[in-house]
Amino acid sequence: MYINPTSWYQLVTLGQGLIQINESNHCSFYVLQDGGSPHPMFIDSGLGLSAGAQRELFSRLNIGEYSVLGTHLHSDHVGLSANAREFWAGKIEWDQYKARDGFPLPYYLKQFGNKSNLPSDRSAQSKRSLLKPSKFVDDGEVVEFGPWQLEVVHTPGHTSGHLSFFDTARKVGFLGDMIYDGVLYLHLKDSSFRSYVASLVKLIEYLRANDLYSWTLLPCHNSIPLNPAYLLRVRDVLSRIQQGDLDPVGQTKGDGVLCESFLFVYGGIKIFIKKKDVPGIKDKANLPIVIGV
Ligand SMILES: [Zn+2]
Repeated sequence: MYINPTSWYQLVTLGQGLIQINESNHCSFYVLQDGGSPHPMFIDSGLGLSAGAQRELFSRLNIGEYSVLGTHLHSDHVGLSANAREFWAGKIEWDQYKARDGFPLPYYLKQFGNKSNLPSDRSAQSKRSLLKPSKFVDDGEVVEFGPWQLEVVHTPGHTSGHLSFFDTARKVGFLGDMIYDGVLYLHLKDSSFRSYVASLVKLIEYLRANDLYSWTLLPCHNSIPLNPAYLLRVRDVLSRIQQGDLDPVGQTKGDGVLCESFLFVYGGIKIFIKKKDVPGIKDKANLPIVIGV
């Protein structure tokens, strides 16, 4: 039995005119509603599989036109972006998207979708071919929307053009897929372990300069909000991997979208890292092949 479009999106009010849209446990995105503007700003836009579900969502939110600010262009983050009146994203990310180094929707659905957890009306997928940013945003820029002042921070690693957004007055940070408390993917063609470590260190320093534990951190997957202490735990695991103190527990083969990788597991944290990014691993032949975790 497919999911009825009317129950595809779940809404969570977070205060400050901010709403979390949970897309049936696949992913989350965010809506900023400025009291003075009829057009809300989305941070990412989920999978967007169903025009019927979108109509029902917009009716519940009482909105028509909208704009989208994108963290990155993976298929589970841009579903409603092609129909936005404005779509703002990073130039590096767009160039990679055009080079087809992303995470395409058919691949996502093969990996994570099945007929029992998708909406019955899948009419919105064809709109993706129209996806194109109307404006590029870059590191250090501040995007203003009503009372929100979102500083753009380039956080490469998961993808080379990944952006995160921070409102330092409100202490709200939008993390995209930079970090969340699930399996971390650093084995896409466009991923880089070295860049990811640098971004995480940069992010921790940025947040610490503004009282780390006072932030509400909003990723696009799993626990929301994310406890700021989780960033420190992941940084420590990455540091162990860099120093050669942690052995992988499994390995994956490449398939054209995901690259050959090692799986590291420590303290509840699971990370896939491209084999070429951790060249010092020994005894590779004895590691079990894992498909997913
Ligand atoms: Zn992603």
